Amino acid sequence: MPRYVPASSMESPRFTGPSTFARLPYVQTLEDVDLAVVGVPFDTGVTYRVGGRFGPNAVRAASVMLRPYNPNLEVAPFELLSCVDAGDVAIVPGYTQRSYTAIEHHVAPIVEAGVVPLLIGGDHACTLPHLRATRSRGPVAVIDFDSHTDAWDSYFDERYNHGTWMRRAIEEGLVDTAHSIEVGLRGSLYGAADWTSLTDELGLAYLTTEQVLAMTAEQVAGAIRARVGDRPAFISFDIDVVDPAFAPGTGTPEPGGLSSHEALAIVRRLTGIDFVGFDVVEVIPAYDPAGQTAFLAANLAYEMLSLVALRRRDRS
Ligand code: MN
Ligand code: MN
Repeated sequence: MPRYVPASSMESPRFTGPSTFARLPYVQTLEDVDLAVVGVPFDTGVTYRVGGRFGPNAVRAASVMLRPYNPNLEVAPFELLSCVDAGDVAIVPGYTQRSYTAIEHHVAPIVEAGVVPLLIGGDHACTLPHLRATRSRGPVAVIDFDSHTDAWDSYFDERYNHGTWMRRAIEEGLVDTAHSIEVGLRGSLYGAADWTSLTDELGLAYLTTEQVLAMTAEQVAGAIRARVGDRPAFISFDIDVVDPAFAPGTGTPEPGGLSSHEALAIVRRLTGIDFVGFDVVEVIPAYDPAGQTAFLAANLAYEMLSLVALRRRDRS
């Protein structure tokens, strides 16, 4: 058995004990660790609603509902992977660059130790330092689930926030653009070029929500897998790609999105990919009346770690 496994909810009630992701032990070393969940309570990068700093603990609280066997992927991930909750990054509220440094310094050793980081945000601006932390494995193929491109150049003449991280990451050479894709774009734009520049200027591919909903989950996953190929890959999951009816607890809601089921069904079909990192971002518990956004985020993270476990099993 792996060294670090969740507490059993058959032995102690799931609402007892310290709040960690999936009831995993809180561990700050990387020895005998395969995957580390890291909270990033950063919300200085937003342009509209704040409160994502409370996202990691809301997702941890919801994640106590996760059980050890994934019936869709037919895998018991915690029997294959030693997983830990590595705690939160000590971000600096109000100070983006200092927070970026803290996030990169927290996550880079995880990547360099061959451990897969799974970050729980926090706003989407934290994906830029997360990608900087994967430099030793990069550039990586980014699969960005989002209703927004996050590839604008600046907001309020400021270049580092949750609407610009993708463009900055490309400029910094962190993204293998020819193998990257944005999935689920929708909503009103500043202009048509918001989308067309992704392909024409930045070299990315994209699927709009309209396109995704006209396809089966298998077809969407197939298109993503074809784009990524055998490259080291990274999933960034902005919870606002899901319809605000299912995931209201987020910062920039866009009506008309994926259902919870559609999102889970696509993610869990991304099998066979060499993942070097994951993040689930933009959960804001203050706008999440029944916790449904946090429960979804926890389950998306579970599908992600299940993909790592499945690949490990099938290659051993
Ligand atoms: Mn985003
Ligand atoms: Mn978004």
